[in-house]
Amino acid sequence: MADCIFCKIVKGKIPSDKVMEGKHFIAIRDINPQAPVHILLITREHFKNILEFPRSEGMFFEMLSMIEKVVKAEKIEKGFRVVINTGLEAGQSVDHFHIHILGGREMKWPPG
Ligand code: AMP
Repeated sequence: MADCIFCKIVKGKIPSDKVMEGKHFIAIRDINPQAPVHILLITREHFKNILEFPRSEGMFFEMLSMIEKVVKAEKIEKGFRVVINTGLEAGQSVDHFHIHILGGREMKWPPG
C-alpha cells in the first residue's frame, strides 16, 4: 500500500534497523522501544491485521521460527513476550500486520 509506513520499510524507502530477513517477514528494531529488546516482525506483504493474515503453513512456520531465532539471537529465552495488537481499542497504530517481541526486563500481568 502506497501510504503504509511498514510497506515503505519493507521496500527500503524508509530506513530501519533490520535484524533479520525471511521469505515472508522482516525483523526490525522498534523505533520507540518499550523494553530493552523490542523487535517487530513485519510481513513483507500488506495485511491489515491478524484476521487478514493468510492461513498458509509456510507463513505460519516462518513466523514461529523467526520468533525463535530473534529470541535466541537477542538472548531473551528466559523471559519474553509476543504481542499482536489488533484494532484501535487494543492500541494498533500501524495497520500492517506485525508482531512485537519484547524482552530484557520483568513483565507485568495483566498488560493493561
Ligand atoms: P502497534 O501500535 O501495535 O501498531 O505497533 C506499531 C509499532 O511500530 C510501535 O511500537 C511503533 O513504535 C513502531 N514504529 C512506528 N514507526 C516505526 C518505524 N519507522 N520504525 C520502527 N518502528 C516503528
